[in-house]
Amino acid sequence: MTATLIDGKASAAKLREKIAAEAARLKSAHGLVPGLATVLVGNDPASEVYVRNKGKTAEALGFKSVHVALPADTSQENLLAKVRELNADKSVHGILVQLPLPKGLDEVSVLDTLDPAKDVDALTPTNAGLLLSGRAKLVSCTPAGVMLLLKEYVGDIAGKDVLVIGRSLLFGKPAAQLLLAANATVTMAHSRSKDLPAIARRADIVVAAIGKPQMVKADWIKPGAVVIDVGINRVDAGDGKTRLVGDVDYEAAKEVAGAITPVPGGVGAMTIVCLMQNTLIAACAQNNLPAPAL
Ligand code: NAP
Repeated sequence: MTATLIDGKASAAKLREKIAAEAARLKSAHGLVPGLATVLVGNDPASEVYVRNKGKTAEALGFKSVHVALPADTSQENLLAKVRELNADKSVHGILVQLPLPKGLDEVSVLDTLDPAKDVDALTPTNAGLLLSGRAKLVSCTPAGVMLLLKEYVGDIAGKDVLVIGRSLLFGKPAAQLLLAANATVTMAHSRSKDLPAIARRADIVVAAIGKPQMVKADWIKPGAVVIDVGINRVDAGDGKTRLVGDVDYEAAKEVAGAITPVPGGVGAMTIVCLMQNTLIAACAQNNLPAPAL
């Protein structure tokens, strides 16, 4: 049996169309153009690509896109002043400070300065706390994307045993909260977990967000289980080039799993569209309009 391919690219394209239509409706009905500001400190090539794609996607959807580029040696105070300026800018509804920051800059104080209403990555303590309380308006983009894929490909996950490998603030923790809210029985594993393969074999759904290329093997997967691979790892392709692989040994795991996300074309494709969804949600909330129907 070969697993069903969970096509993140196709799901993302559908959501993108809905967001573009909703953005057009907001503009004609309310004169509202959602605005996304990206802040990049330094010139890490991977971060530059991510930020450029976010700006391009925003523009393609009819959003306003603002990019702030600061040199790697920018001061903490200068960075915080920029964040405060964007907080006060009424044409900007979402602010994304690309992480990680260069050495010497403190991410915590950036997140403490960022207006939670504009925190479209949902990384501020306010938004993390609202998620914990079941009252989140803005949900971390990659976990939100995973939930949409599960909804489309699995349906009701109530009572399912779900294993989340990884406990980062960016992915693992918010993902576990969303899964719990959807009534799954959630297990969280991390680098200190004992006998991870045995824990994984019990799971109906395995969500891997580790950052270790192809660590999750086929014999960790219960036959028919759903595998969601969040990992994005660049590895040597052997021909002097590099290629992207996930945290799951995809080729072998797809022969055991019931459904599986590829890398690329799975979870990653959803993340950027969910960021646009958050920007739209933030724009509506800041203008006292109902949440967009997506
Ligand atoms: P992270 O902050 O580095 O967290 C990695 C997590 O994996 C940690 O909780 C760590 O445990 C755990 N871990 C590390 N080694 C392990 C092991 N041997 N066994 C079990 N757990 C282990 O990474 P992240 O930001 O969550 O990202 C994880 C991966 O997802 C990366 O490949 C990243 O590129 C990718 N990602 C993709 C998207 C997307 O759009 N698709 C978005 C975000 C992240 P400890 O807490 O004990 O250290």
